Amino acid sequence: MRCRRTSRIILWIGVLLAGALSPAQTPRTPLRYELRFAAPNTHLLEVTVHADGLHGSTAEFAMPAWTPGSYRINDYAKMVQEFSAADPQGRPLPWRKTDKQTWRIELNGTNAATVRYKVYGNTMANHWTQYNQLHAFLAGPATWMYLVGHMDRPIELSIAVPEGWRVATGLVPLGGNRYRAEDYDWFADSPIEISDWERQSFTVGETTYHVVVHDVLGQKDFTRFTADTRKIVETVVGMFGGRAPFREYWFLFHIWPDVGGGLEHLNSTQINFPSTWDADGYAGRYGSEYQLKLFVTAHEFYHAWNVKRLRPVPLGPFDYTREAHTPSLWISEGLSSYYAQLAMVRAGFYTPEQYLESIAELITEFEQMPGRRFRSIAETSWDAWFQNTPPGDTNLSNTNYSYYDAGQILGHLLDFAIRQATANRRSLDDWMRLLYERHALPRPGFTPEDAVRAASEIAGKDLSEFFRRYVEGREPLPYEEYFGYAGIEVERVPQSAQPWLGATLQRTDEDSTLVVNIEPGSPAELAGLDRGDMILGADGRKFDMDQLLQTLAEKAPGATVKLMIQRWGQQGTLTVRLGSNPYANFVLRRVENPTPLQQAIYESWLGLAGRAAAQNSLAADKRTR
Ligand SMILES: [Zn+2]
Repeated sequence: MRCRRTSRIILWIGVLLAGALSPAQTPRTPLRYELRFAAPNTHLLEVTVHADGLHGSTAEFAMPAWTPGSYRINDYAKMVQEFSAADPQGRPLPWRKTDKQTWRIELNGTNAATVRYKVYGNTMANHWTQYNQLHAFLAGPATWMYLVGHMDRPIELSIAVPEGWRVATGLVPLGGNRYRAEDYDWFADSPIEISDWERQSFTVGETTYHVVVHDVLGQKDFTRFTADTRKIVETVVGMFGGRAPFREYWFLFHIWPDVGGGLEHLNSTQINFPSTWDADGYAGRYGSEYQLKLFVTAHEFYHAWNVKRLRPVPLGPFDYTREAHTPSLWISEGLSSYYAQLAMVRAGFYTPEQYLESIAELITEFEQMPGRRFRSIAETSWDAWFQNTPPGDTNLSNTNYSYYDAGQILGHLLDFAIRQATANRRSLDDWMRLLYERHALPRPGFTPEDAVRAASEIAGKDLSEFFRRYVEGREPLPYEEYFGYAGIEVERVPQSAQPWLGATLQRTDEDSTLVVNIEPGSPAELAGLDRGDMILGADGRKFDMDQLLQTLAEKAPGATVKLMIQRWGQQGTLTVRLGSNPYANFVLRRVENPTPLQQAIYESWLGLAGRAAAQNSLAADKRTR
């Protein structure tokens, strides 16, 4: 312990010396940003930046190309107009653009400059800015330029808030609509909602949580959702030792037509839902729309640990000019989904049976992805940045798949592997906590090797083979073995009696059917069907898509069907010999007579052990009273 202390002192001296000798230090005075609003129907925000402490002959201001957490290039510079720069006396300073996103100013001997620009925003999405008569929602990277080389300086923002609106943000409030961020990363990471939103707050541990809702679909009461969010918060915070790494946290929700998605931030999240709080329709494998809302909320909240603080090395400090590739997004995103849905079981929002059904559906869909043959899970993570290409313009629908789904499935296998190896004394939760302890901010993040090493340490045995085969490799996932550790039987119900075409079809406005994808090696491909073909009918009769699907479903594997198609304006016929469906439907169910270890793994994994004990003690309480 003494040794460590000495080395730290030496390190500090080194840092101080380096600081003193540095020829061009960036000052610690804040950069001052101001925000004003043009008329709402222009969708223009007016930004002013006062920067002092400049040195050299030029200064560069740049607009990010992307938003951390949203792995696609958006080139926010295209939203900027009317850029200008002036010295402190108001004299214009000349400038020119040096690439797609950087404005270089000639300082002409001054060491301070004021920059002005307008930024357009009219898109309701997590990673875009929108300003209209209803609200201003500001996504940091879509709004704020940064001063190149000064990104670690604090930032102060003052907002000329339009009458009747208020500000909700995770930025540090200074009073009077002024806010502070400790550096540009924090500033850009703090979305800002300015409108007449509603708020409910609660406290867990030492942290206050704000649920802010801007609802244009009818402002239904969200008290139930706030109470349920609190249970999610308690479960996730509990997993990380009961203490959150922030004193305040902001859930910023929009209930808005035709939106979706959430984006994680250091002490906030911004989530968009297209339906009201009381909507309870079917939401696929998530159950109901309400359960899906809770799942998205849990996923984004889990990110406050996983990816915002515990992150792969390339994901921060951020280079906003270009892509940051990592093979570990299956951890950052997939395991956030794994723990989000698990937190929902542990908090009582799914029964164990509902959960197993949901995961069986996830695996069924995953195993039908043709891309499994072409990319490993590490490779899908690396290629996340291709996702902004419109589907159909690439062959990614056949060669790529979701690292969210892959990671969520792998989470189960890895968790069961650790629990089996340690007789259920350790779990993936311990692995997460160890990684967090070792690599979370302010440390530089983890490498893929760090993740493998930590897993082996927690399991008490070498797990590198697992990562080599199933993360970096493309080997089929051994569901039966790993789910078996938790006493869960995996049944693959063959669908081979079903006919198989192997094309993805889409309904068109004209009551016919568009071919949007052809699976490699499928009967559709062998018959010469092509993307963009319009299927007008089959076996001599005109059909809409429902009738076509019905006709196909009634055929036996091996039967032929004559498709009437239209291609390049010409009509013709294609004869397809249907195959037999090569995929299985997965079913997960508990084994009838679990061993004590299987029973223990199952119960502690789903959080049933604690719950049963709590219920028992309640029952005992009642008896004694
Ligand atoms: Zn996410």
